[in-house]
Amino acid sequence: MTKGKEQIRRKVDFLIGFAVEQASAWPENPFIKEYIGLAFDFAKKVNYRIPSEIHRKVCKNCFCLRTADNTMTRTERRKVNKVYQKYIKIHCLNCEYIKKLKINK
Ligand SMILES: [Zn+2]
Repeated sequence: MTKGKEQIRRKVDFLIGFAVEQASAWPENPFIKEYIGLAFDFAKKVNYRIPSEIHRKVCKNCFCLRTADNTMTRTERRKVNKVYQKYIKIHCLNCEYIKKLKINK
């Protein structure tokens, strides 16, 4: 990882952590979406791939934090090449965006 990417990684981690902290202290904070949007903008500048743990916490379409109120999850089985594979589908109820995660056994 180059120096610029390392710096961006730290910025992204800080901004996401800060947004989570703010959401617990002041849930109606109108700037939470902006913090997360900023983090995604920084990552785009240097082609930094945001890790999947962060993608599970936030919605990349509307930049909201996922909570029990605004998400819905369900599992799904799918046949790919004659083998069943399990997926988790995470719906964002704010923007109807669906994230699909494959479960590896
Ligand atoms: Zn969303």
